[in-house]
Amino acid sequence: MATMKDLRGDVSTWCPGCGHFSVMAGIQKAIVELGYEPHEFAIISGIGCSGKVSEYIRSNGFHTIHGRSVPVAQGVKMGNPDLKVIASGGDGDGYGIGLGHFVHASRRNIDMSYIVMDNNIYGLTKGQTSPRSSHGFETKSAAQSNKEYPVDPITTSIVNGATFVAQGYAGNIKELSNILKRAIEHRGFSHVNIYSPCVTFNKVNTYDFYKENLTTIEAPFETRDEAIASIREHEGLVTGILYEESRDDFQTKLGTDFDMQSLESGPMDEALLKRVQK
Ligand code: SF4
Ligand code: MG
Repeated sequence: MATMKDLRGDVSTWCPGCGHFSVMAGIQKAIVELGYEPHEFAIISGIGCSGKVSEYIRSNGFHTIHGRSVPVAQGVKMGNPDLKVIASGGDGDGYGIGLGHFVHASRRNIDMSYIVMDNNIYGLTKGQTSPRSSHGFETKSAAQSNKEYPVDPITTSIVNGATFVAQGYAGNIKELSNILKRAIEHRGFSHVNIYSPCVTFNKVNTYDFYKENLTTIEAPFETRDEAIASIREHEGLVTGILYEESRDDFQTKLGTDFDMQSLESGPMDEALLKRVQK
């Protein structure tokens, strides 16, 4: 059984106090407590400070291009269904250029987890407005304040069919690793958005801000509508598992015994067609 030490990868270059340390620890803790070995996982990351997580956790991994962690992760899962696959990245990567992939993975319900480190800013490029920056937020790229409203990630995945949707906070590793354990074990697309403060560039969405404003949801809502209504009532400032549903995932619909290797020979394309047309 793996230990936290077994999952330790490259030495981090994150700023001291960055929320991403806790997110990474939460993922490692979840893997250890679930009893998996590092080689049973693939961590696929996007671009940004958060994208380094695939190098900092020792497992199979791929640091992909901007906004493409989710499609690459889906390919990894289809090619090697026995792997536990996690796509991870930041709010700029996932909810900006990667937003379309996120929506389609939600409706496809492919068996993987998408873990987003949401710091409401572009950190790696030194503090520009992101798709998650609040209305009125001031940065060097919006000196007269942000005129747009932020993407709402958790209602987006709920509305588009994701079968497990949760939100965590980097300041509460215990709750976070419990959420991540459930997300990893969920069969289908699990989306976990995590408030992960950027201590260097975001002076608004700080640990103190979240400590004062977050509300814990103790149990998932029964319906998508109830979950969305509560999230909106709390202006998105909730943590916990918000919605969970058991539904056949994409691979089950294709046929669990389907062998991707067989696609290498031409005639097997017919076999794939038959599976899809079923
Ligand atoms: Fe973390 Fe922000 Fe530093 Fe990037 S710039 S490592 S997000 S604190
Ligand atoms: Mg960000």
